Amino acid sequence: MGTAARPVIIAGAGPVGLTTALLLARHKVPVVILEARTGPNTEGSRAIAFQRDVFDIFDRAGCAGRILAHATPWGTGRTYYRGQELRAVTYPDPGDSPFPPWANISQTEVEAALRDRAAREPLIELRWGEPVADATISPDGVLVDTGTRVLAGSHLIGADGAHSTVRDVAGIGFEGRSYPDRFLIVDLRADLPFPRERRFHFDPPFHPGRQVLIHQCPEETWRVDWQVEPGFDLAADRASGRFDQRVRAVIGDRPYEVRWASVYHVEQRLAPSFARDRVVFLAGDAAHRFIPHGARGLNSGLQDADNLAWKLALTWHGQAPAALLDSYHAERHPAALENLRVTNGTLRFLIPQTVADRQHAHDTLERALTDPAARDAVNSGNQAEPYWYLHSPLTTPPDHPGAFDERPLAARPPVPGVLCPDAPCQAGGRPTRLRQLIGTGFLLLLADPARLTEARHAAGPATRVHALPHLDDDGRIAALLSATPGSAHLIRPDGHIAAVLPTADTEQITAAIHRACGAPQFTESEGQPGR
Ligand SMILES: Cc1cc2nc3c(=O)[nH]c(=O)nc-3n(C[C@H](O)[C@H](O)[C@H](O)COP(=O)(O)OP(=O)(O)OC[C@H]3O[C@@H](n4cnc5c(N)ncnc54)[C@H](O)[C@@H]3O)c2cc1C
Repeated sequence: MGTAARPVIIAGAGPVGLTTALLLARHKVPVVILEARTGPNTEGSRAIAFQRDVFDIFDRAGCAGRILAHATPWGTGRTYYRGQELRAVTYPDPGDSPFPPWANISQTEVEAALRDRAAREPLIELRWGEPVADATISPDGVLVDTGTRVLAGSHLIGADGAHSTVRDVAGIGFEGRSYPDRFLIVDLRADLPFPRERRFHFDPPFHPGRQVLIHQCPEETWRVDWQVEPGFDLAADRASGRFDQRVRAVIGDRPYEVRWASVYHVEQRLAPSFARDRVVFLAGDAAHRFIPHGARGLNSGLQDADNLAWKLALTWHGQAPAALLDSYHAERHPAALENLRVTNGTLRFLIPQTVADRQHAHDTLERALTDPAARDAVNSGNQAEPYWYLHSPLTTPPDHPGAFDERPLAARPPVPGVLCPDAPCQAGGRPTRLRQLIGTGFLLLLADPARLTEARHAAGPATRVHALPHLDDDGRIAALLSATPGSAHLIRPDGHIAAVLPTADTEQITAAIHRACGAPQFTESEGQPGR
């Protein structure tokens, strides 16, 4: 069976499934979303903290304005031990983005914005109450069984969450473990004098011996997350009045309303493969699970969606070889491994599972009270950031690779693989910003306007080509990109830098685009993970 004209089928109308669908529709690919629930989930939340660069993904999906308009921006996180502040982290902006470093809004509101946008998109069909029950996968397509009908699709994306059926059907495991510790999460509506910051308390006077995380959300709502004792029972806590005491200990005698309360446990899991047969792909919680501290779950799930959509679209339209699809696993699996590495460090500090780790966390906190040098070792969660595809088969390696600091919060230079910076600019006489110049194809930025014509010819009609001096008067964008005279930067549809070419040589431009499209001569020798 040929794949042309058959839709991509997505399992799951959660935030990752909806975003993937919107991005595919932007690329003119028809999508059917199969959702097990019979209607939208409008209660409660899970994710609240959305990282700045994810708003560019929402922008491409057509929802950034609405989500941002209802979100609470913030940029500082503070960590306390026994009421004493140990650390304050202010999140940097590597460019000049219109988005705040972080914005809090409930996942249910984000899903509603995505759903409303999807409802206006003729290329997206969302079917409620039709779960993916089974699938027959062949190298050239998929037959999906919902229990009541069978649908033919060109590809199947498992965005069906942690208990993914698609993952099972594809025969892909989910390695890792869950932890016995429990957390009580409550969204409280109250008029509180707390600042708009992430505040993490170890052993605070209002919850001795354990931890509390406090975040502000929109509409005078506060997310309070208590570490609670094993075997914690929310209904019993409420019935006994202990719940009210718990809240009162944090907010005093101000009136409050509980908007949502739930108990969660944490898991660290990773699918060993994010794809099968270039036909089935896993994204979001179906592919990985991280502890919420650091907000790496959904933020990275949305980056999965962004990474997958353009690759699937180019191959669906026959504009790139199927080998391009192998790069989804090649790029997003290392991104998830990095998230696991970072969150494992947080987990060992927050909920140590061994006597040695418990002692280490305790000693570090005690030392940090008096020794500022010990404070960087206090780990209350390292907030999410986009991954860097330095060693991807799609990335043209730089002639002279420099050192790259992988530590959290380190500055990421604009080298091949890294997300390109953002800043206001002009294009076609209109104010815009660099990342909005990215369309559904590649973007080529030339330092030398005299090379425009030949570069356009070499890049082909699907690539937008701009000269940096035409984008702004003050050279800010050239400086952000560390452009040199005569250089060229190739930017992918997901905003990552595919190549930095010291000279905008036409052969090199063509080769960099072919490489970024997964041309076999560049990718085959590097294996085909995820098959
Ligand atoms: C307490 C808590 C706080 C969190 N806070 C943050 C945060 O601040 N920031 C952050 O980035 N992340 C956070 N996370 C993680 C975040 O909630 C998840 O990463 C996110 O929900 C993943 O989205 P998803 O679309 O992949 O999966 P889901 O949201 O689980 O959606 C999956 C969808 O698939 C549907 N489905 C299931 N099976 C099938 C099937 N067989 N066929 C069709 N449909 C199916 C489900 O009904 C559901 O609608 C938090 C998680 C928790 C528990």
